[in-house]
Amino acid sequence: MKNIIVQKFGGTSVADTDKIKNVAKAVIKEREAGNDVVVVVSAMGHTTDYLVKMAKEISDAPSSREMDMLLSTGEGVSIALLAMALQAAGCPAVSMNAIQVGIMTEKVHSKARIINIKTDKIKSHLAKGEVVVVAGFQGVTDDLEITTLGRGGSDTSAVALAGALNAKRCDIYTDVEGVYTTDPRIVPNASRLEVISYEEMLELARVGANVLHPRAVETAKQYNVPLRVRSTFKLDNLGTLIVGVDDMELHKPVAGVASDLSQLRIVVCDVKDHPGTAAILFNALANENISVDMIIQSYARKNLNTNDIAFTIDKGDLDKTMEILKEVNKKLDFSNVYVDDKIAKISIVGAGMIDRPGIAATMFKTLADLGINIKMISTSEIKISCIVAEDRAKDAVEGLHKIFHLGCDTIAEVKGDLPDV
Ligand code: ADP
Ligand code: ASP
Ligand code: MG
Repeated sequence: MKNIIVQKFGGTSVADTDKIKNVAKAVIKEREAGNDVVVVVSAMGHTTDYLVKMAKEISDAPSSREMDMLLSTGEGVSIALLAMALQAAGCPAVSMNAIQVGIMTEKVHSKARIINIKTDKIKSHLAKGEVVVVAGFQGVTDDLEITTLGRGGSDTSAVALAGALNAKRCDIYTDVEGVYTTDPRIVPNASRLEVISYEEMLELARVGANVLHPRAVETAKQYNVPLRVRSTFKLDNLGTLIVGVDDMELHKPVAGVASDLSQLRIVVCDVKDHPGTAAILFNALANENISVDMIIQSYARKNLNTNDIAFTIDKGDLDKTMEILKEVNKKLDFSNVYVDDKIAKISIVGAGMIDRPGIAATMFKTLADLGINIKMISTSEIKISCIVAEDRAKDAVEGLHKIFHLGCDTIAEVKGDLPDV
């Protein structure tokens, strides 16, 4: 039996018909190497952003079901065009959406998790010698509702398919040549990592390195899927390999720096200092599926008996959160709510920072020397994050990248448009 390779091509890689023809060449190359190939594609270029924009022009609060119906259409275009490009180049191919494949998810709109993937139809097409082109980002529930996996979720579709099909490898083709020490669009002398552990990549993806969707890394780790991030435009380069932490020989204390501009901070002032307060607040948010990232509860000064609780959420969840806070205030009776939406979360990640206490101090000193105020701090075993003012994000990333010696002499070549943010 042939090995199965899953290839995933992101939006920039399929941005126009010439690029789709280029992708067809990369697929044929893999097939001619003797493999069965399953391809996952994203929507063309900025299609998904454009669809979001149209929805917002129609309604301030479009229903999440209809948003999924809308956003899932983007990938429908690119699978059909890529299948046509393959057929035109003489390669038998068939496109399939999530319903046709059976990419089964939980019934949560806009950020559903994959529960199970049916492989029988894909395997029967592969057995006929066809390349199967699958729509990324979308899923379907038991009762045939369309779901999406969250922005950037095509990576997760690809890795989950690779796991389900027991693929030999999952290659994520994108517009940079691999995973870098930081976003090469922000710091041009960022260095490409030959290899990075699942654990470090997962933290980096969670704190804003959007080169991989966090759940893709989680899934790769869980099913031990060998994963590569590589360039669509330089097919001979192998990019970055993502492996188990035990397979890595040596760790620099810091593997990478990331920034995340997608969150805002909410401060709830003067909540009573007694058992159950945080439970009421965060349960109410959790019940509405709002993810809270950092949380800080201040020290209750004597006589006052009240605390301030600050937390961060995604900017997109603000309206819903404010409604919930209004409701919750009937029980908690806090005095005020402040919203700070001009923040950036700056993080350093590295498995080598375990048991090296100097790393956090170096991070704080670097920010201090740059005159950057730290608004919140959170740490895990292999990550330290600081919330700073949004307009200092670039300085913070550059400063930290430099102090931890992550740069190289060459300038990364990046293709495609610059991101809007
Ligand atoms: P695709 O459309 O292929 O899924 P994305 O835009 O989602 O591509 O991800 C690739 C982008 O991720 C790069 O263009 C780069 O700007 C950004 N990026 C952020 N952090 C990193 C990093 N540490 N290494 C590489 N790329 C990064
Ligand atoms: N098209 C979707 C998005 O833009 C999914 C993806 O590209 O991974 O978020
Ligand atoms: Mg992506």
